[in-house]
Amino acid sequence: MSQEHRTRVAIIGAGPAGLLLSHRLAEAGIASIVLDRRSRDEIEQTIRAGILEHGTVDILREIGGSRVESVGQRHDGVELRFEGVGHRIDLRGLTGRSVWLYPQHEVLRDLVGARLAAGQDLRFGATVERIDGVESDEPRIVATDAEGQRFEVAAEFVVGADGSRGITRATVAGSSREGYFREYPFAWFGILCEAPPSAEELIYSSSDDGFALVSRRSDTVQRMYFQCDPDVDPGSLSEAQIWDELQRRVPGTDLVEGPIFQRDVLRFRSFVAGRLLRGRAALVGDAAHTVPPTGAKGLNLAVADVLVLERALRALLLERDERPMLAYPQVASERIWKAQHFSWWMTSMLHVAPDATAFDRRRQIGELSSLVDSEAGRMFLAEGYTGW
Ligand SMILES: Cc1cc2nc3c(=O)[nH]c(=O)nc-3n(C[C@H](O)[C@H](O)[C@H](O)COP(=O)(O)OP(=O)(O)OC[C@H]3O[C@@H](n4cnc5c(N)ncnc54)[C@H](O)[C@@H]3O)c2cc1C
Repeated sequence: MSQEHRTRVAIIGAGPAGLLLSHRLAEAGIASIVLDRRSRDEIEQTIRAGILEHGTVDILREIGGSRVESVGQRHDGVELRFEGVGHRIDLRGLTGRSVWLYPQHEVLRDLVGARLAAGQDLRFGATVERIDGVESDEPRIVATDAEGQRFEVAAEFVVGADGSRGITRATVAGSSREGYFREYPFAWFGILCEAPPSAEELIYSSSDDGFALVSRRSDTVQRMYFQCDPDVDPGSLSEAQIWDELQRRVPGTDLVEGPIFQRDVLRFRSFVAGRLLRGRAALVGDAAHTVPPTGAKGLNLAVADVLVLERALRALLLERDERPMLAYPQVASERIWKAQHFSWWMTSMLHVAPDATAFDRRRQIGELSSLVDSEAGRMFLAEGYTGW
């Protein structure tokens, strides 16, 4: 016999989307259970996002114990580099807003800590296998805990915050591939290395050899990426080859090199699910959409979805008003498609496609020059990068 639990909102996934949603629902007096198949350690060691929009930081500041102010670093500008010359985009001067470098695993540590301190029902090692009855008033989740025991959760609403490989997308949208999709013919080779920063602000560099992003983690650990073939094996390059690839893609600067202790290859996809809501189940964050990382939008978009869905859940569960929930897909989609465009635009403008001709490359340089030479162009980038 499987155990049965009851809650108001069952949330699948303890990534930024699921944890933030459960936190905000609790503030509104709505109980939830969050289930994640990974362990707490695995979740808190997720090396992913780094750049947070100013609005995301405002939301995180509201969480008790958040270290975004003390550990995060405010960045008032970014550098666009091409033809060996850097051009600073003054985010703060142009928009009055900045972005913050605060790694995703720190966001997750803050959120997990706040949820557990508040005595919330947060279950690690719990894998959801099935969601039943989403068209009814009492959808049910069937899951297995870390010991392999089956259990069920009956709820008034189910939220799929289970990322791009979760199971809720298929339940809500009909299939995991049902929606709008684009794949790119390149990927990012990402490294973490022990070295001092090479630059004060992030460098987005477009060279004839491809793209590179020089980012940072702390005063002693740096995060860098370079454009690569999607099928490259991360173990196939020596440290010397990796540094050569990076240095060639950031001409005109000398990157400070150091021992590389993590490497991964990140494929690029743009995706928006065909449906974000079905009956009593909705998708948020990467479960609803994926963006290539160039625009640093994924986590920020997850936070934006959560704010819209939280309002809809409060109206539905506290006031029995269904209208905000029915409007959720349309309201969330406005920002989703702005972020899709921004991420696609940054990606296409900065990377060199494998079949690019000399004409394509010269046109790209023309686009980058038009952007940095025009206040309107720099403003467009700054508005999108800091968040609408
Ligand atoms: C290298 C890289 C760099 C990035 N940089 C940025 C950046 O600078 N800025 C930015 O905004 N975004 C960035 N992103 C994107 C960002 O990391 C994601 O958009 C973000 O993690 C989405 O959060 P989420 O909560 O929707 O999903 P996830 O973080 O994927 O969380 C989903 C959770 O669901 C769980 N789960 C899945 N299936 C099940 C199941 N069946 N049962 C139980 N649990 C399940 C998973 O274990 C996981 O913990 C980057 C991503 C990568 C990979």
